[in-house]
Amino acid sequence: MDEKSWSARAETVSMFGFTDLPSIESRGTIVLTHGEGPYVIDTQGRRWLDANSGLWNMVAGFDHKGLTEAAKAQYDRFPGYHAFFGRMSDQTVMLSEKLVEVSPFPRGKVFYTNSGSEANDTMVKMLWFLHRAEGNPNRRKILTRWNAYHGVTAVSASMTGKPYNEVFGLPLPGFIHLTCPHFWREGKPGESESEFVARLAAELEEVIAREGADTIAGFFAEPVQGAGGVIPPAQGYFQALVPILRKHGIPVISDEVICGFGRTGSTWGCETYGFTPDAIISSKNLTAGFFPMGAVILGPELSDRLDAAIAPIEEFPHGFTASGHPVGCAIALKAIDVVMNEGLAQNVIDKAPRMEAGLRDIMQRHENIGELRGVGFMWALEAVKDAETRQPFPPHLSVSERIANTCTDLGLICRPLGQSIVLCPPFILTDAQMDEMFQKLDRALEQVFDGLRAEGEA
Ligand SMILES: *Cc1c(COP(=O)(O)O)cnc(C)c1O
Repeated sequence: MDEKSWSARAETVSMFGFTDLPSIESRGTIVLTHGEGPYVIDTQGRRWLDANSGLWNMVAGFDHKGLTEAAKAQYDRFPGYHAFFGRMSDQTVMLSEKLVEVSPFPRGKVFYTNSGSEANDTMVKMLWFLHRAEGNPNRRKILTRWNAYHGVTAVSASMTGKPYNEVFGLPLPGFIHLTCPHFWREGKPGESESEFVARLAAELEEVIAREGADTIAGFFAEPVQGAGGVIPPAQGYFQALVPILRKHGIPVISDEVICGFGRTGSTWGCETYGFTPDAIISSKNLTAGFFPMGAVILGPELSDRLDAAIAPIEEFPHGFTASGHPVGCAIALKAIDVVMNEGLAQNVIDKAPRMEAGLRDIMQRHENIGELRGVGFMWALEAVKDAETRQPFPPHLSVSERIANTCTDLGLICRPLGQSIVLCPPFILTDAQMDEMFQKLDRALEQVFDGLRAEGEA
């Protein structure tokens, strides 16, 4: 088969989610066959440095031998099982012990899903169940933030704060979105960062007063908003909001699907930002992307309350066929070991300053980059028409898509999100690979901004 037919075959019979269709129309699709370290390779032998770790998740690269060996060994031993009816695999037991051990909680309990979306969905059902059993059936509303990404199931898409969900008639009623804590974009003229945070805290108080604390089931937040465009919280944000939520008995759920297991330079994003949630949602990095799996990790209070709520009906009627899949659990156990003990998490800590400095350098060379933001190994550069006024480019120019497409032509995969370009490479990245990323990105920005200037748009 020649490349043309691979590309054509892909679009004839497959639907691409979250894909800019005009880009496919003009550029074709890419059909990949394998990977080497942080690189992916297609049917024609073309090679890209994947500075997005697949979808944030392939943190150990695309050919980690220890992970494939762990998978093969477990397939040979016990290739599949569930976690219903009081049965589960030994791997599932060991992974739960490990997750509680590495969590910020002194003790807790774990529930498995196949994805991050399902883990968020599961958490919402747990909260609804819990409040109802405790005599608070009206505690059903969910607080999240604009620009949040919590997944695509009907409930997790309702939690997601993105306008594209309107096409599904979402969010469902009872999902309330607070202001996104992005000071650079959301701060008012003359407002200091601490005044901004105080305004967001006041907004939370107002929303709770308006809706009634006794109607709110929980608050969900990514420590750093990932798919919203890598948005670290304004300084002091969680310190201001979490006590308000606690005062009103609203559980705080940290969606660590991206931040968990080292992405921000700590095991958990909530550690990086200095708050302790009541539960953690994990997926993506949990298996280093080698198996689809998600987990809800409940801290001690929610575990105890949920146990007490379940006791009278003697069953928690929820679960997925592949919850706690033994192969997924064996891979996750290995992935946690690889990330934490084979120097991957340490590499993020060691190289984050170099990454920031390199990107800062690039930003300074391009006047159409308005902001560099990020932490650890997750960064974004925001393109603006005018850096002074922070005026964005008109959306029809698709500037970030143009940058990402130009990067692709140069052998670098990065992701356009809104008007920004996201870089979240695998944790195994070497200095030479980081330099390759900088050089290709720099060239792409030069080509695109030169082009826009020639069109009179920049
Ligand atoms: C990717 C993501 C999800 C959804 O995970 P899926 O496995 O795609 O369902 C949820 N929350 C966050 C923060 C994510 O980045």
